Amino acid sequence: MRSQLLTHTTAERYRRSVTEGVERVATRIAAADRPFTGVTVDALSAVVDAVDLDRPLGDTAAALDELEEVYLRDAVYFHHPRYLAHLNCPVVLPALVGEAVLSAVNSSLDTWDQSAGGTLIERRLIDWTAERIGLGPAADGVFTSGGTQSNLQALLLAREEAKTEDLAKLRVFASEVSHFSVRKSAKLLGLAPEAVVSVPVDRDKRMRTAALSRELEECRNAGLVPMAVVATAGTTDFGSIDPLPGIAELCARYATWLHVDAAYGCGLLVSRRRRDRLAGIEHADSVTVDYHKSFFQPVSSSAVLVRDGDTLRHATYHAEYLNPRRMVAERIPNQVDKSLQTTRRFDALKLWLTLRVMGADGIGELFDEVCDLAAEGWRMLAADPRYDVVVAPSLSTLVFRYIPAAVTDPAAVDRANLYARKALFASGDAVVAGTKVNGRHYLKFTLLNPETRTDDIAAVLDLIAGHAEQYLGDSLDRAC
Ligand SMILES: *Cc1c(COP(=O)(O)O)cnc(C)c1O
Repeated sequence: MRSQLLTHTTAERYRRSVTEGVERVATRIAAADRPFTGVTVDALSAVVDAVDLDRPLGDTAAALDELEEVYLRDAVYFHHPRYLAHLNCPVVLPALVGEAVLSAVNSSLDTWDQSAGGTLIERRLIDWTAERIGLGPAADGVFTSGGTQSNLQALLLAREEAKTEDLAKLRVFASEVSHFSVRKSAKLLGLAPEAVVSVPVDRDKRMRTAALSRELEECRNAGLVPMAVVATAGTTDFGSIDPLPGIAELCARYATWLHVDAAYGCGLLVSRRRRDRLAGIEHADSVTVDYHKSFFQPVSSSAVLVRDGDTLRHATYHAEYLNPRRMVAERIPNQVDKSLQTTRRFDALKLWLTLRVMGADGIGELFDEVCDLAAEGWRMLAADPRYDVVVAPSLSTLVFRYIPAAVTDPAAVDRANLYARKALFASGDAVVAGTKVNGRHYLKFTLLNPETRTDDIAAVLDLIAGHAEQYLGDSLDRAC
């Protein structure tokens, strides 16, 4: 079995095996006429369950043949122009080259002696990102597994900086449409169940600064401690950007940590036409960026940045076998000193190669294109009597619902929209997401594929309307 290890004797086999795998994916991607086959859970479970894991096939080609059946045939393909659902992007080629390189070399970024150049590359990219944000000379940060982990780490630092023994007194302020990882983090950090205060949003789904101001004042008057404000720069549901300058001002007044969750909106950092929408982000104490959302990077690629690199010490622990304290004095750069993880992928390489091949403007142009597309989609929806659309997009998200001319029962409209989403998924013709707005079911396009055209949007809107009408027609028949 040694022939299956990547060693100096198997370089040729490695080249062949990986090429075979790449070949299968390339063929699938080139041939996919839909984003999904519509396979059911039961049907696919039967295929996966039928594999006997204790009887290996012994051969890459055979395993790949099997993989076609258990995975590649029925996967949900984000590169397809009619995949319009979640915050998943098609990925850029330099990043895929990076992915292949980093997993084969298999550097682990925790310590210099497991990584060397990888450590320096990651550091350069952290500095580059911090500079784009405008965090100042003391900034630092680290790559993470995703926005969830970045938010957790940022809030850990905020909790430590709040310098309060009494965790029950700490409060975190985030808008009612902030990401659920804020609440999850609060729980993991030992805060009280009521610690996360939900701040109302305006019609455009942006945090109301007047409401935040009132909440902060009440918090102080009640003898509680405002630990952090989480401003979202690109909400997951709407792409709305909280008013960062006003929020920053309040944070300064109440000496509160400002965390900006830019997991989605970070793509604006490289946009030449929309960078101003992030104005105020430079006041943050910490920032979450998900390159795997709006920088067209494969999962995972994410980072947390901080204004004051010293605060990262709150996550620093030393182990004799790994990163003994003396190494700090010897100025050996061990990234584990800054990270919640220990063994950690060299995800930074993907972004590095992307910047070296395409440049920041190249990525920003792609993101600008999907923002343009969303603006166009919004005009189409606003002019379409079949649809109600919620907010004009700040990024690339559209939230809307089908509204039949004849039906007035809001519950029936909800059911029709839910049905349309499910029917569309089952057909595999397109994939869209859904969410609730004021208690009612809506549908959502998250546009991250520059290959999607307005024609695709128009076609998918027709498909949705068709499914919804069919549902309402059928339920009318049942009622008669
Ligand atoms: C996606 C998202 C997250 C979570 O990021 P993951 O990479 O999925 O862990 C956090 N905040 C916002 C606003 C997001 O859109």
